[in-house]
Amino acid sequence: MENCIFCKIIAGEIPSAKVYEDDEIVIFKDIEPKAKIHLLCVPKEHFAYLSELNEARAALVGRTLLKIGKIKDDLGLSEGYRVVVNQGENAGQTVHHLHIHLLGGEPLPW
Ligand code: AMP
Ligand code: ZN
Repeated sequence: MENCIFCKIIAGEIPSAKVYEDDEIVIFKDIEPKAKIHLLCVPKEHFAYLSELNEARAALVGRTLLKIGKIKDDLGLSEGYRVVVNQGENAGQTVHHLHIHLLGGEPLPW
């Protein structure tokens, strides 16, 4: 997608601190971390909202959650973590490419 910063990261056009990548997702460090560990888990397919899910995308998001659960220890999240998906204006979504925030590495304030 043109002008999508996460598509550009996925394409390698702008740098990121990647910690995991496979054929359908990438996980990299958030540039403005809100916790000791703050990662963004991004499906490579461009869409912005859960309201745009179809069966295939729902399965992709499901596999993404499955992967997070499998590699959480490697990501430094063995003591627990928070999963956040901001959707739309009231949630403060700034990047309109679906992404899952992973926050942890320390006890988190609510
Ligand atoms: P959201 O507000 O849910 O849309 O989250 C977007 C997140 O992307 C924010 O936490 C930003 O700090 C982060 N972000 C924006 N640009 C970059 C970038 N180039 N590399 C890493 N993280 C970024
Ligand atoms: Zn995108």
